[in-house]
Amino acid sequence: MNNFLQQAQELFPYTQTLRRDFHMHPELGFTEIRTGGIVAKELETLGIEVTKGVGKTGVVGLIEGARPGPTILLRFDMDALPITEDTGAEYSSTNPGIMHACGHDGHTAIGLTVAKMLHAHREELSGNIKLCFQPSEEGFNGEEMGGNLMMIRDGVLEGPKVEKSLSLHLWNDKPLGWINISKGPVMAGAELFTIKLTGKGGHGAAPDTTIDPIVAAAQMITALQTITSRNVPPLKSCVVSVTSVHSGTTFNVIPQTAELLGTIRTFDLEVRKTVLERFNQIVRSTAEAMGCAVEFETKRVTPAVLNNDGVTASVLESARALLPNIQVDTENYITMGAEDMGFMQEKVDGCYFMIGSANAEKNLNYNHHHPKFDFDEQALITGAALMATAAADLLK
Ligand SMILES: [Zn+2]
Ligand SMILES: [Zn+2]
Repeated sequence: MNNFLQQAQELFPYTQTLRRDFHMHPELGFTEIRTGGIVAKELETLGIEVTKGVGKTGVVGLIEGARPGPTILLRFDMDALPITEDTGAEYSSTNPGIMHACGHDGHTAIGLTVAKMLHAHREELSGNIKLCFQPSEEGFNGEEMGGNLMMIRDGVLEGPKVEKSLSLHLWNDKPLGWINISKGPVMAGAELFTIKLTGKGGHGAAPDTTIDPIVAAAQMITALQTITSRNVPPLKSCVVSVTSVHSGTTFNVIPQTAELLGTIRTFDLEVRKTVLERFNQIVRSTAEAMGCAVEFETKRVTPAVLNNDGVTASVLESARALLPNIQVDTENYITMGAEDMGFMQEKVDGCYFMIGSANAEKNLNYNHHHPKFDFDEQALITGAALMATAAADLLK
């Protein structure tokens, strides 16, 4: 269709200017007022229909192709982190204690560059592009839910109905030139759990007159270890960790209650189902066996990000045609990090790909969320070109 690589190269000054401006003015989750305002203004200037306030501070732009066809959502996250920047860059954060330390400034700039390129070629598209600028990817910030789920609740996947999604992350664990496009799991799904056991308190020297919640908690912690060792297939990944135990205040009192907190991490949906079933059974029956009442809750933080085979194969084909000199990594590159794009990919077939952005020679190789984190801006060109090409190819 087009050479989006050449166009992304030509647009680099635009992309870089935006990225540096966002970097200098980082905003935390659900406070992306300035960032979202610039996004909306840029999209409106192009003549793209814009909806603001989707998921609080999210912004959505719709590019309608010349011919009818499916709607593809492209997700770009906009939020920064509560970190004091220490890069010494000329475009360092001007908001004390807040920093774009994950590269979302780059993602937002890529999104606007992609909007520009695809809007210019809308006559060649069969279907629609929904540009989704998401707030608060980095997590709770005290909120009940993150930006992705909030946008879904506000209807971002409807009107027109989204059929496929694409998203990316600049990836500083890998050098510039590395690209990963892989089928299946990319990021772990995370749940947190809370358990409250209630027994009957009493004298430490008269345990027979009490129901000891500490002994019940100890049995439960041990029993929970058998989920990964005895219920999950040995070649599948899973973590069940009890990370907090609270009970009792002194040496001669058997307390009334014991509270446990922890987390569960899985990639595979079948494994997750098994783990949650076993978790419920073990918690319920151990409490019962020990004579305690139990209240417990598991709460989904994020589902795993699972790449759909068909969409991923299409993105891979686009990448190989666009970047013939780059060896695309198709090995499952899995991280235990969580990413709320898992919510959208649970509802629509999607592909989440990664663009290597580190450059050790320029000292641009600190990890994500580090105060010295910065990436090689050349990765913005690859990211924008691949996102535009992959989206256009899906609408051919
Ligand atoms: Zn991050
Ligand atoms: Zn991130």
